[in-house]
Amino acid sequence: MLTIAVSKGRIFEEALPFLEAAGITPIDDPKTCRKLILRTTREDVQLVIIRATDVPTFVEYGAADLGIAGKDVLLEHGAESLYEPLDLGIARCRLMTAEHKDAPPLSGRIRVATKYVKIAQRYFAKKGIQAEIIKLYGSMELAPLVGLADCIVDLVETGNTLKANNLEPRELIMHISSRLVVNKAAMKMKNRAIVDLLNQFEATLANKG
Ligand code: AMP
Repeated sequence: MLTIAVSKGRIFEEALPFLEAAGITPIDDPKTCRKLILRTTREDVQLVIIRATDVPTFVEYGAADLGIAGKDVLLEHGAESLYEPLDLGIARCRLMTAEHKDAPPLSGRIRVATKYVKIAQRYFAKKGIQAEIIKLYGSMELAPLVGLADCIVDLVETGNTLKANNLEPRELIMHISSRLVVNKAAMKMKNRAIVDLLNQFEATLANKG
């Protein structure tokens, strides 16, 4: 049995063509079904539906053999313990700093609100900016508006969320897309099945052009 960890929502929707091309269609629709383990049209493959930030943990501990997770989540988790063989090119966005549209250039010691504490720490340290990082779990855009932080680090796709809150993107930290990750022991123990799946995913990627 192969277990694949994936989060609901955008990543799941965009991963579906890859799964379906490999003959893996969930029997229940995760949008309407509350099951956390989904059987699929392939008897040897099941999906576990978890929060995006938990995907690397499940795969690292072998609770899932494979997972699909954003590069942002992998970097923040520290994914050295996982194989990351394939960039699926899905759920693309940018990890950026953003500030109030009228904010002056950052200077001196700053406060940064983000859920990406490690990435932000590394980014500002590299730039030689003294930054106090404030961990938030959501609604980062609010922080500069209420004086909690000078700046946020968050994912940006269209920029509409920032704009709606009088913020604007400033510096690009990195381009983000979702990756296939594999548990290292599973790669050895279930090599054949995993390599077959990888090849099928690669073929789908090539077909997408
Ligand atoms: P947008 O308004 O299109 O720039 O989208 C920004 C909002 O969507 C922010 O709250 C982001 O955290 C979230 N977001 C954008 N792209 C992604 C992604 N690929 N994965 C998860 N969240 C995202």
